[in-house]
Amino acid sequence: MKTYDVLIVGGGIIGCSIAFELSQRGLRVAVVDRRELMREASWAAAGMLSPAPDCPAAIPLVPLGRASLALYPRFVAAIEEISSMLTGYRTDGTLALLCHGDAERELSTIVTLHHGLGLACEPLPLDDALEMEPALGRDIRAAALLPDEPSVNTRLLMAALLTAAQTCGAEMLPGVEVIALAGDANLCTGVKTSTGDTFSAAQVVFATGCWTGQIPEVSRYAPTIPVRGQMLALRHAGQAIRHVLRSERAYIVPRSKTSPQTLVVGSTLEKAGYEKCVTSGGVEKILGGVNEIAPELAKAEIMETWCGLRPGTPDQLPIIGATDVNGLVIATGHYRNGILLAPVTAKLISEWITDRRTFFDCEPFSPLRFTRGNTDRSATAS
Ligand SMILES: Cc1cc2nc3c(=O)[nH]c(=O)nc-3n(C[C@H](O)[C@H](O)[C@H](O)COP(=O)(O)OP(=O)(O)OC[C@H]3O[C@@H](n4cnc5c(N)ncnc54)[C@H](O)[C@@H]3O)c2cc1C
Repeated sequence: MKTYDVLIVGGGIIGCSIAFELSQRGLRVAVVDRRELMREASWAAAGMLSPAPDCPAAIPLVPLGRASLALYPRFVAAIEEISSMLTGYRTDGTLALLCHGDAERELSTIVTLHHGLGLACEPLPLDDALEMEPALGRDIRAAALLPDEPSVNTRLLMAALLTAAQTCGAEMLPGVEVIALAGDANLCTGVKTSTGDTFSAAQVVFATGCWTGQIPEVSRYAPTIPVRGQMLALRHAGQAIRHVLRSERAYIVPRSKTSPQTLVVGSTLEKAGYEKCVTSGGVEKILGGVNEIAPELAKAEIMETWCGLRPGTPDQLPIIGATDVNGLVIATGHYRNGILLAPVTAKLISEWITDRRTFFDCEPFSPLRFTRGNTDRSATAS
């Protein structure tokens, strides 16, 4: 039986970031994934690092998002240094664009909301916006600059993070599917796999993304819901786009800096269960929004399409922290913000495991919020 200080189940950005952090602290760490690592939601993501809320339910997340954004420069610098690989971290900022309705009023609401939450947001005269990004459509009615919203090339980041974590000693074990906890109702001592093996660890962290809600004994702490997002990569031959461009209907994230340029564009928010497929309706919706932002992209070549399943939660907040089963820790439910929240999640989980205290109050994100008032302990570990 293999024994570790910490066993992490799930090799997406959350699991691998935690492994990177813990292995730097000298712990013996392994990450198991039922398939290749970094091939699910994390691989699909656009890479925008935006702590701004996309709906009122996400407002409690803003301080956590800001804390993670503040950690990002050191996070990517450490990964790049240790892996000797690039992450495509870009600090050109984001343009928020309004194309419909009473755009001026909407713009003023967005600016006020951002300022109230401590986020930089400057209204931008349309002439200035067009000068900054000549590809913008002439039908755009209002614009704002979000100077502190960077982006990262998720696929480069994934590859570099994997290498950095392994360089620091973390063991990566693809093709291992966890089906149950080992231990008893009060103590988790490891996990059981679909091939009948057992892995033993002092702490087990479930970072299994949207599938956490399917794992017996763990789902009660993390009732995750898959939310499908479709994406495309375009090859743009015109003048390179510098900023992330975001409207009510779509976003455009530049990957490379020079022309011809790769742009990733998205996305959809669909409750389609665990079915992963790109649909004609999804592509049509995305391209309609993209061509509204930058009409010349109608000439861009479609290079690739893909989709991923975001780990949604009933209250739209992530699930980060210890459970009432000793040795069982949860890090999932990051929904639309897992790339942004990876550094802070890794720091919080690592601090809790090594010091039993955290620099940030995780109470609003506790896995126990789903079990409070529910005294049914029949779903116990075995
Ligand atoms: C289209 C799209 C665009 C997005 N854009 C952004 C963005 O711009 N910015 C941002 O911050 N976030 C974005 N997100 C959200 C972000 O991608 C996710 O929040 C994040 O990737 C979640 O990471 P994770 O590690 O929890 O999950 P995943 O990356 O899904 O990893 C979970 C892993 O667990 C493994 N697993 C599951 N069950 C088991 C089991 N029983 N045993 C072993 N292994 C198991 C899976 O195989 C998988 O590898 C986007 C998501 C999508 C889909």
